[in-house]
Amino acid sequence: MLERVKDNVMSDRLVGLTPFNIYRKQLAGIEENKIAASFKDTRSHLVPERVTDFVYNTEKRHSFQWSSVHACVPELKQQGILLLYHEPSSQTDVPEADKLVTLCVSNHTALQSARRNQHVLGIDGKHGLQDDGACLTTCVTQHRDGFGCPTAFSIINRENTDSILLTLKAIIENVPCDSAKCTHDFTYLGIPDQRGYRRKTICAAPNPYKPLVMIDKHEPSANACQRLGLQYVLCWFHIVKAMMEKLKALNLSLVQSYQVILGFKIVARSSHHETAVALWELFIQVAKYL
Ligand SMILES: [Zn+2]
Repeated sequence: MLERVKDNVMSDRLVGLTPFNIYRKQLAGIEENKIAASFKDTRSHLVPERVTDFVYNTEKRHSFQWSSVHACVPELKQQGILLLYHEPSSQTDVPEADKLVTLCVSNHTALQSARRNQHVLGIDGKHGLQDDGACLTTCVTQHRDGFGCPTAFSIINRENTDSILLTLKAIIENVPCDSAKCTHDFTYLGIPDQRGYRRKTICAAPNPYKPLVMIDKHEPSANACQRLGLQYVLCWFHIVKAMMEKLKALNLSLVQSYQVILGFKIVARSSHHETAVALWELFIQVAKYL
């Protein structure tokens, strides 16, 4: 579902439209001769079930009645695996950042692995995996041998710049030093107005963890990295997926699309301009025979 479509559904919901009326409204905006073509694009024009599911999950996620999440906080804190628990303010007239629910967990082994393999941290959010409809953000360190190691998991009610920033900050404040002699002590600090806790590892600050963050094409992730002074790159899977969608819209065949993607990969993955030019010229010669 496209972000602008989600925004439209949310704003229609705010003015009191039912899921069925939201669906009728999107039908009303399409000229009759374009209906058949438009409805092939189900990301822009949602089928009624999709509108209903989205409304149900979104409202559940924003209701803050996260019984299962609230209940496990004391135990997670006692075990020391809670990095952050951020509850929303009870006031209504507060900035968006104060309306967030964020619960971030990790453990010492995972955080230490992030320190030892600290070059790349991949982050990605997924909705619909949790009973309360929350977004589960997974943070994975790319091990120097190439495979991925979990670094932290975050459950958040709104996937936006502020919540992603809270998750990244919770990790940065807790990736310990690399000394075998250090006990990596940590402490819990209260969030003002008794709105939760954040864990702080004492030896994290002197040598801050500064990974290259791999993100999807979700703009808030890039904004969060910028605000924390972290460099970021787009992940290949999402770049190629976005390109395939564009090529599909241009009515290119699958074979033609793969040729374009192959050429793009050869050029974009080259580490130097000269290499990219040389490989591109080779590719053009070979492409005739593909
Ligand atoms: Zn330490």
